[in-house]
This record gives sequence, structure tokens and C-alpha cells, in this order.
Amino acid sequence: MFKFSYITPDVYYIASQTFNSNIYIYGKKILIDTGHSSNYAEDIIKHLKSYDIKIEKIVLTHNHPDHSSNVDIFQKEFNAVVCVHEKLAKRYGYLKDKLLILTEGDVLKVNEDLKLQVIFTPGHSRGGICLYDEKNKILFSGDTIFSHGNIGRTDIGGDIHALINSIEKLLKLDIEVLCPGHMDAVKNGNKHVKMSYQFAKQVSSWGM
Ligand SMILES: [Zn+2]
Repeated sequence: MFKFSYITPDVYYIASQTFNSNIYIYGKKILIDTGHSSNYAEDIIKHLKSYDIKIEKIVLTHNHPDHSSNVDIFQKEFNAVVCVHEKLAKRYGYLKDKLLILTEGDVLKVNEDLKLQVIFTPGHSRGGICLYDEKNKILFSGDTIFSHGNIGRTDIGGDIHALINSIEKLLKLDIEVLCPGHMDAVKNGNKHVKMSYQFAKQVSSWGM
């Protein structure tokens, strides 16, 4: 089974287990990342259906398998639109009219109070994005940064300098709640972003 909780009244959090990423449900309509193992997805779907939650959009913060492998299971179940950064457009081209290509600054809207802005954040992976809810000060950071000063690895096709540039974008945001792709979702988001930035600078000075 899985552990779940509300981080804010509008963010439902399913904590990562084994090789699955964290999964978030935003405003009961947008699924952020999908996890990896199919039985995990099926358990979550059963749970969502029991609460009559119908997912309309699935956003992949990037396409590493721990975040994206279950995308087809969720997509088919809810007939949802899958949203990915334009660098991943080819990879998900088979979804045709169920694919929405995102670029920097695009906005995904649940209603007037719940909107997510797309921030292109390469470095951990080339098609990586973060999602920012400016009104409620919530950041979904994928594997760009994690809580407690951690950062996504850059040794699997990533680039530490690109990651630092991406974290610099996040430093400009006002973040109360940080919802990362792994590890805990936390309050005092700004503080955690700053710690991640310092750590990334340290890693780059080691020449990694
Ligand atoms: Zn990743």
C-alpha cells in the first residue's frame, strides 16, 4: 500500500516508496508524476476512484522511469491529457491529441485560485520542469531539488551547471511549501531552495 496525506487543502501527497517517485494530486484534477510500478498505480487509482477524484491532466516533471513509467496506466484510466516539456514531445508523440506540450511560462489552470506555472529547469535531466503556484506559494520541484538542501543527481545525462542555473530561477520565487520528487514535502520552501543552491555550488566546485 501507500502513504498519503494532505500537504495543503489542495495538494494531496503520496510519499515515494521503493523505486517510485513522490506523486502529487493538485486541486483534485492534476496528477504530478506517476511512479514506476504498475501495482502501485492500480492501488492509487482504486483509492482515487473511491473518493470520486477524476484526473484531467498528468504532468511529468521529467521522464526518468521512477516518475513516468505509469503514465499510460493513469492516462488510459482517466482519459487524461499528458503534459510534458517540449524537449520530450517526440518521446510522447504516440499520445497524439492527448499530449499537451509545455514551454516556460505556460500555465495549467484548475480554477482562478489554483494555477501552475511551468518553469523549465534542466540539469538533472534535459526535459525537466518545475511547477509553481504563485498564489499559494507552492513549488513542485521534480528532481531538480529536494528538501533539506539536496539536489537531483547530474551523473545520468545531467549537467551541474545547468542545474545551478535552474536553481537560480527557483531562488527568485516566494515558496512556502516545497513538494519535491523524492524525500519529504516541507514548509519554509525558500530556506530549502537556498540550501540546495549552496550544495549545488559546492558540488560544482568539486568538479563533478
Ligand atoms: Zn529523475
